[in-house]
Amino acid sequence: MSESSLVRELPRRLLAWYSRERRDLPWRRTRDPYRIWLAEVMLQQTRVDAVIPYYRRFLSRFPTLTALAAAPLEEVLWAWAGLGYYARARNLHAAARRVVAEHGGRVPRDLEELRALPGVGRYTAGAVLSIAFDVPAPVLDGNVARVLARLLRLRGDIRAAATQRRLWRVAEQLIPSGRAGDFNQAMMELGALVCTPARPRCPRCPAARLCGAFLHGEQEELPRKARRGPVPHFDVGVGLVWRRGRVLIARRPPSGLLGGLWEFPGGKREEGEPLEETVRREVREEVGLEIGRLSPLVICQHAYSHFRVTLHAFECRAPRGRARPLACEAVRWVRPADLAAYPFPAGSRGILRRIGGGAAAAR
Ligand code: SF4
Repeated sequence: MSESSLVRELPRRLLAWYSRERRDLPWRRTRDPYRIWLAEVMLQQTRVDAVIPYYRRFLSRFPTLTALAAAPLEEVLWAWAGLGYYARARNLHAAARRVVAEHGGRVPRDLEELRALPGVGRYTAGAVLSIAFDVPAPVLDGNVARVLARLLRLRGDIRAAATQRRLWRVAEQLIPSGRAGDFNQAMMELGALVCTPARPRCPRCPAARLCGAFLHGEQEELPRKARRGPVPHFDVGVGLVWRRGRVLIARRPPSGLLGGLWEFPGGKREEGEPLEETVRREVREEVGLEIGRLSPLVICQHAYSHFRVTLHAFECRAPRGRARPLACEAVRWVRPADLAAYPFPAGSRGILRRIGGGAAAAR
């Protein structure tokens, strides 16, 4: 199907389908740009059904962008705990503060102004502008890219820069006048419900007669992705250092992976290093304590977007010295029952559960 035929035919068919089939989702009941922005940020890397309870809870705590901007980062991270990819929360919080400081608390309607905010890429800016304000700004997430690649029967690597440029251009051309928000959401909805990665439901698709992949029986083969190398894996030694019924936790620096979250001191095993020695070294370097006896507690696996870790947690008794934040932001001795007040990364969930303090990361 040529691009010009798609531009002529697709919007009308797709919008009619969307008005019948769209799911009733909490962020589709509002035109408030803050609420739409929040949903788009949460939906990056996370499934719709997993996002809904977090979305509601986050908004009951921070109902407006001004309320979010006024809150301390730690409170925001706590409300985010369990959703993962914490850079999203840190950026949203920083962006809310910028909007209050530089735009009088109103989300900018200008693409470049919006994209200048922390964490706002072309996709998020397009989604907020089109859905909240009907600005004809395109969106291209994984769903939309897959739908377009199949409609256009693109056979090259979908991640290639030239392919991405073409997809952005087509996504923009397709937007019908005055219906940017509905059209963009319809494309995403089609990708989520019908044009799924595996076994797309082509007989139920409103675009089937326009679809190059379907007409050539290639819908299961497209889009193509160039192979990536294996995901790296690291062993991490973690120390649960106890003193008088309290366990030591450390807050990570505010930027970088899992920035601002609390964790048990620990770090990557160096080549050939016994895990007990990793824990002793990391605890010494991070919080300045020498630890005595170690006993294995639990082993947990966790996958991040670009690597996997195996956490080897050890309980450490009889620490010597005074805990101080050497390679972290802050340290605290906490009773297990009080750990729920501290935002932890999802990877710590298994360890927290073992010591009866799982609420913070399991939320
Ligand atoms: Fe996707 Fe099939 Fe529809 Fe083509 S016809 S857009 S492959 S669901």
